[in-house]
Amino acid sequence: MKTLIMKFGGASLADPEQFGKVASLILDRLKVYSRIVIVVSAMGKMTDELIALAKKVHPSPPKREYDMMVTVGERISMALLAMALSNQGCEAVSFTGSQSGIITCNNHSDAKILEIRPRRILENLELGKVVIVAGFQGVSKEGEITTLGRGGSDTSAVALGVALDADRVEFFKDVDGIFEADPKAIPAAKQFSSLDYDQALTIVRGGAKVLHERSLLLAQANGIPLHIRSFLKEEGGTYINPSPDWKRHKKIFEAQDPASIR
Ligand code: ASP
Ligand code: MG
Repeated sequence: MKTLIMKFGGASLADPEQFGKVASLILDRLKVYSRIVIVVSAMGKMTDELIALAKKVHPSPPKREYDMMVTVGERISMALLAMALSNQGCEAVSFTGSQSGIITCNNHSDAKILEIRPRRILENLELGKVVIVAGFQGVSKEGEITTLGRGGSDTSAVALGVALDADRVEFFKDVDGIFEADPKAIPAAKQFSSLDYDQALTIVRGGAKVLHERSLLLAQANGIPLHIRSFLKEEGGTYINPSPDWKRHKKIFEAQDPASIR
């Protein structure tokens, strides 16, 4: 049974027309993968707008309420994408991080993932549905809504890949892949077609915003193959694969990986 996680960033969901295009792309993948879980970010710059709105009311919003507010962005995306899939005849269901069983520590606005209890996701995959999960968020053991830090939807996607033993996590970005330098600033920069986790970590730690660093650490700890690519092109991108002799062992989430806790 082949399992794919597809993660759509804010740029690929920036306006309502794009949801139909993303839905078609998902339908295409269903020809190859029997289980597909989608992770979405908030539309375009919506998270920035929500934070700016909160700051108009409180210059430094209480972190619990900040998390309650900013998680709304991903909820809008997940519901719109489920509607777009339904409109193309595909059964889909959307879940918040909490409904997906993404359990985090209680460090509001920068929570780490402790474990995933994907019961509802698995039940719905079993029914043949595409499952859509709101990125960037989880729930603490106390039942409070948390967020994973800016850009954290990438980490949601890899963590779900770990929980569901995914064959690959595919990231749809507004760049063609991972480059030696920021391609928006230096158009001649070379794109890598493949990298190992350490090489990718070095590039991300050097300041490239292409992936949330914690998503790479989680992928490395669990040997999850990644593909970073543009939502505008059908081919290309950067592949990051574990070495051929990699053996999967126990699932490692963030709290069990000391390197990911800072
Ligand atoms: N929407 C959140 C942010 O902009 C999470 C994400 O995009 O990964 O930080
Ligand atoms: Mg975002």
